[in-house]
Amino acid sequence: MNKIEIVPLGGIGEFGMNCMGIRYGDEMIVVDAGMGFPEETPYGVDISIPNFDFLEEYRDDLTAIILTHGHEDHIGALAYILKKYNLPVYGSRFTLALAEKRLEEFKMLDEVLLHRVKANDVINVGSFQIEFIHASHSLVECFSLAIKTPVGTIIHTGDYKIDDTPVIGAPYDLKTLGRYGDEGVLALLADSTNATVPGRTPSEQAVIPAFREIFEETTGRLFVATFSSSLHRLQIIFDIAHEYGRKVCVLGRSMQKNVEIAEEQGLLKIAYGLMISMGEARSLDDDEICYLVTGSQGENRAALWNMATSTYKGLEIDKSDTVVLSARIIPGNEKNISRLIGHLYKRGANIIEEKRRLVHVSGHASQEDIKIMVETARPKYLVPIHGEYRMLFRHKEYVKNHVAGYSDDNIVLIENGDMLELDEFSARVVEKHTLHKTFIDEESHDEIEYDVVRDRKKLAYGGAISLVVTIDKATHKIAGEPQITFQGVAGIDLSNGFAGDARLAISEAVSEMKREQIADKAVFKENLRIHLKRYVQKHIHTKPVIVTTVVEV
Ligand SMILES: [Zn+2]
Repeated sequence: MNKIEIVPLGGIGEFGMNCMGIRYGDEMIVVDAGMGFPEETPYGVDISIPNFDFLEEYRDDLTAIILTHGHEDHIGALAYILKKYNLPVYGSRFTLALAEKRLEEFKMLDEVLLHRVKANDVINVGSFQIEFIHASHSLVECFSLAIKTPVGTIIHTGDYKIDDTPVIGAPYDLKTLGRYGDEGVLALLADSTNATVPGRTPSEQAVIPAFREIFEETTGRLFVATFSSSLHRLQIIFDIAHEYGRKVCVLGRSMQKNVEIAEEQGLLKIAYGLMISMGEARSLDDDEICYLVTGSQGENRAALWNMATSTYKGLEIDKSDTVVLSARIIPGNEKNISRLIGHLYKRGANIIEEKRRLVHVSGHASQEDIKIMVETARPKYLVPIHGEYRMLFRHKEYVKNHVAGYSDDNIVLIENGDMLELDEFSARVVEKHTLHKTFIDEESHDEIEYDVVRDRKKLAYGGAISLVVTIDKATHKIAGEPQITFQGVAGIDLSNGFAGDARLAISEAVSEMKREQIADKAVFKENLRIHLKRYVQKHIHTKPVIVTTVVEV
């Protein structure tokens, strides 16, 4: 077969959970294994991962996992995929350091093979030759991938922005990308996260003036909350704090860990004596300290939330404190952030957020960056990835209207589970699969079955009715009255007699059943369930979960 198959398992038509299989002949590599943050959180699900069972069919073809960068939505599911398929993993030193931290939690570190690669390294994995192209993004040591196959070259951008002046590391390596453009690129799989945003994405350095102003004008304690992975931002805060004579105290587990790794690897440069412990910080005057904290998304267990609700040991937010939220709102976190801000206001703190000052810039390519990407790679086919369908669509529309040579014929929109077949003559979806995501319980790391979450949803919408029927074993006749209890079912109260009527209806139904319908317990239970379901729907028009139990005496 002289074609390439692209098989997205996640990240297309949704935010997060990025993962994609790329197959040639009987070989398949997997690019990224990210986690997602599903809408199902009210039903006790914290995270989701791609449905890796889908790869079972390709078990013998799988050769390697390639990581573009270390964000959770690209590496967060690594342990779960490795548990199923123990493949060698390739990534940058920093990406792998973050991945190792996760694998350690799963006690898997000794069992997996991690290969560190640098920008412009070229590796051979079977028929695939992969070059790692340095990409600029909100964290460091990120890659776009140039994947050469016998059919043609695929460029996978990973997450990127075209940052000419990043704080840490080099600008996006357009030169290497351009070299592939000259040689000929079959397909460009490109980040769509910011495809609805006009212009260029500002450089990571763009937040410096606002932070200087904030340090200049703040007289009390200063708290800066940001993503623990946003290393450019962390570097800026360390530098400006140093400049304005404030020490920095880092709080929150992920922030402390990331700062430690990044400093160890020489990525973050922290002046000697600048970083201090919480104990040391407490002995300083208010205008001598800057706390760098986790919790910009209003996460209930993070440092900032705890400080705002008096649950952080030894430190709480007070009036005369200034809190900077230096992050964007990740979709789905709006309510938590709003609650956090409420708590901070109650305590009298001064809050500075993205809407009021330029304290955050995006890590993703806006429309003009996308134009630069497409014009440099000049692919035969463009496939928008990473983003909700709206963003993929706008990515397509923008390129169609602003880059010569692109039309509906060579920009292909796909969704998770689509199998896109590519060669130099065509790009088309040949199969479509519905992929249910896999839900994970964050505490136990266990999978929560799809059916379980579906049942929880049903419970939340309709409540539950439990029915207990007692049967005389000898006569197969009902013994005593059926017991019916309701939980969270709308339309039921003690006065309207519904429970009594339902009991009567069930008793009648049982008395009309034949002996053999009752003798088989499973058939009997199901019959009872259906009777009660119909009765409930007819009289109170709801669909609660119905649990039936048969007791034999
Ligand atoms: Zn990212």
